[in-house]
Amino acid sequence: MKENVKSELFMQILYDNIAYNENLIFDWGFSCIIEIGGKNILFDTGAKGDILMGNMEKLSIDPKNIDYVFISHDHWDHTGGLEEFLKINNNVKVFLLKSFSDKTKQIVKNNNAEIIEIENEQRIFENIITTGDMIGEKHEHSLIIETSKGNIIIAGCSHPNIVNIINKAKKLSDNDILLVTGGFHYLHDNIEQINNNISKLKSFNIKYIAPSHCTGDLAIKQIKQSFGNKFIDSGVGKIFTEI
Ligand SMILES: [Zn+2]
Ligand SMILES: [Zn+2]
Repeated sequence: MKENVKSELFMQILYDNIAYNENLIFDWGFSCIIEIGGKNILFDTGAKGDILMGNMEKLSIDPKNIDYVFISHDHWDHTGGLEEFLKINNNVKVFLLKSFSDKTKQIVKNNNAEIIEIENEQRIFENIITTGDMIGEKHEHSLIIETSKGNIIIAGCSHPNIVNIINKAKKLSDNDILLVTGGFHYLHDNIEQINNNISKLKSFNIKYIAPSHCTGDLAIKQIKQSFGNKFIDSGVGKIFTEI
């Protein structure tokens, strides 16, 4: 599919409000592609289908090569591109939470794609686990990808708090944590709340941390300062293959 697909894992952010690759459109929302073990998984779909499709085209990622869609939670900035994606490729299985709205489930059904409803933690592939439904401000599940270098934890918005997500991930798979990425949702928090969460994040032995989307500028600045060379700049277009 791509020249760099030879490595064990290819992961790239396709939709984010943080500009990383200036050739792509940045817009509020989150989506990334995960290619591992011959499977292509679209994690979330951003807010607008035309932006998602446009960014994929610029990156020479063919939506027809996607096999699975994983929707982290039922917010518009993660589900918004789903319908337009399914109109191009409905030959996919869509992982979502049983607690999602009928409206979102109906988008999948109307486009004749297959729904897989998740409730509890579950190994969905040999090396990929979902945390199952975690309740925060919104029901959400996150992915744990087991690689030879350690586990990657990807969260859409981290409404249940990324600290709780990492705690659950560690219970489900106790490998070293290679990378924690996605939206950490500290954008409404004050500096004390942020620093309190950062000290909890620091207690995990995380090799790399790459927050984006709804983490918030202040939290990103604090995480960068606190994690030093373990911090990775992220945003739309960021590739994680090289870690
Ligand atoms: Zn979001
Ligand atoms: Zn959200």
